[in-house]
This record gives sequence, structure tokens and C-alpha cells, in this order.
Amino acid sequence: MLVGHLGAGLAAKAVAPRAGLGTLVAVAFLLDILLWLFVTLHLEGASVPGDFAERHQLAFSFPWSHSLVAALLWSAVAAFLWSWSGGEGKYFAFAPAVIAATAFSHWILDFITHDADLPLWPGGPAYGLGLQPPAALVVELVLAALGFGLFLSRTRLSTPRRIAIGGLTLAVAALTIYGDTTDTTPGDILNLAGISLLTIFVIVTIAAVADRET
Ligand SMILES: [Zn+2]
Repeated sequence: MLVGHLGAGLAAKAVAPRAGLGTLVAVAFLLDILLWLFVTLHLEGASVPGDFAERHQLAFSFPWSHSLVAALLWSAVAAFLWSWSGGEGKYFAFAPAVIAATAFSHWILDFITHDADLPLWPGGPAYGLGLQPPAALVVELVLAALGFGLFLSRTRLSTPRRIAIGGLTLAVAALTIYGDTTDTTPGDILNLAGISLLTIFVIVTIAAVADRET
């Protein structure tokens, strides 16, 4: 899932308008940032299963980034770090809760689309609704559209900045559709980790810059 997580970040911006969009989007992708970092450190793993051409789903072993307990813990860490660092726009008591909820939304969204590979705790039983490709993609695109709609309904950004964020959402949606329909199987997993981290970095940077009204 890619654009669905961006949608979660955009929706969070509607709830906490004075928190930075870059921060919120980074937090929405936090578990995947950790996953790909842990893959490069060989702490977690990803492999290409035999049915990749039909399902477009990698097989993951990701207890430290994507187990339920780990997700709850990382969400709390994100909220704590955000508050501790001064929390851009720490203007209402439940702002850290918005950060934690945004981080945890990642696990819920992954739970909808992933096969039963999300463990409750490292080594524990694993679950996932495993929504099949066309339905999973439709759900993800609808979530992204809802997130963007919510964002638009609350933002006070100028029109060019709204267009930039709309363009970003469309580009990431296109990338998601490509990823879910292409027949090319990813080769080297370390390469994929690097590309994924770079993609998330570019998405977060564009969101942060577009949100910075001068
Ligand atoms: Zn994930």
C-alpha cells in the first residue's frame, strides 16, 4: 500500500491543521520506513513469492516494524518524540494523540490489504484480511481520495499549493496503480528497500515543502 498511507497523512492534517504535513505524512509511512531500514540491516526480510504476478504482494517477515505490539510502540514513540521536539504547532492537548493515531493507521490499512502475515507480537500468531488485488486497489484509492478531500475541506493553503499536493496525490496514486498491475517482479530486495526509502523520502519532502506557506 502506498497512496492509502498518504491519504491517512492528509486526513490527519485536516484534524491537526497546524502540524506540518511533511511530519504527518512521514508518520503515516513510519512503519514502512522502519521496515525498509530493518531490511537493509538484515533485521527483517522481504521476498518475492511464486504468486507475485497475480497478487503483486511481497512476502514479509517484519516482526519489529509491523507486528501489532511493535506498531503500538512505534506510534507511542512517534507521539513522544514529536512532543519532546517541541511538536510544530503543539497547540492542543490531543495533538500527540493525532500523531500516534496517524502512525497506527498504517497498521490498520496494512491489515486490510496484507495476507495473514502481520503478527500480533514478534513470533506471535499472524493475521491480515488479504483483500484481493482489484478490490484492495479500489479501497486504497478511495481512502486516498477521502484523505485528500478531508485535507482540502480544512486547509487554508493557497491554490498553487493545493494543486501541488493534489498533483502529489495523483502521482503517488499512479505509482500505486503501476505497482499493483505491472508484471515486472522486483529483483534484488536491497535495491527495492533503497528505492522504497527514496520514494517515501521524496513524497514526504514534497508534502513538507508544499505545506510551507511563505
Ligand atoms: Zn506497511
